[in-house]
Amino acid sequence: MIRHHPPLTRAQLADRIRTHDAGWHARAADRTSGFIVAGRFAEDSSIWSDVKVVYMALQYNKCIYCERVLGAELTGKSEHDVEHFRPKGRVMTWPYAARKPKVSYTFSTGTPNSIGYYWLAYDIENYACSCKGCNSDRKRDYFPILGARGAATDNIAALNQSEIPLLLFPCGVDGDDPAAFITFTGVIAQVRSDVDATAKLRAQVTIDFFSLNDREELLADRARVIRELAKAMELMNHSDPAWQARGQRDLDQITSDASPQAACARLRRARPYRRQ
Ligand SMILES: [Zn+2]
Repeated sequence: MIRHHPPLTRAQLADRIRTHDAGWHARAADRTSGFIVAGRFAEDSSIWSDVKVVYMALQYNKCIYCERVLGAELTGKSEHDVEHFRPKGRVMTWPYAARKPKVSYTFSTGTPNSIGYYWLAYDIENYACSCKGCNSDRKRDYFPILGARGAATDNIAALNQSEIPLLLFPCGVDGDDPAAFITFTGVIAQVRSDVDATAKLRAQVTIDFFSLNDREELLADRARVIRELAKAMELMNHSDPAWQARGQRDLDQITSDASPQAACARLRRARPYRRQ
């Protein structure tokens, strides 16, 4: 998981959406007004997929949570779900008893409810693109928090003050920088030891929630980027400047925002010879 740089302001994000689909904001505002009057989310068909490609482009076609590279705009849109960070229709209890592997905590992760965050169903800062493994299999209608749920119709900034999301969300102006919470030892994501207690909880729940260390595809991806990084660094130590330059180009590409598992690669780049 990485923070994309530079993060867009809400106005900049709105502009990108307007450029892609001039009428979307008005249609979304109409629907939101209806949900607020009804006090719940309900509609026969949705329009958030109309702006999916805006988020895909911002994320370099990577899943916002697990950093897998998914399909591109021309043929791969169906691999991306438009994920609502705060669930729109209900909030279920997490962790749940049948979850595998089993997870349990000694602290509260918030109360469930039957209305969710209905007023944010069309809030542009409540969206990101994610893979089916992160969204359909794991995120679903869960939204663990510390403390009490915020008040209905509060905006995201106010909600982030009144409730502390336990999941990291590296989007938006005030989004989280995952590198400030999660580190890697080899292919394994770990909670940073040099952060406060709340940050440790958020990092641990995020790692657990998205099974960041239990999914073969993610571990294989990280192992591959570490091998590629080692090759690039070997080239950089070559006596021929042309090979050194090639190694530098490879290293820059492997650690760029657009590359899979960039968070892991960047830490490996910073500490290439760390003993495991
Ligand atoms: Zn994912």
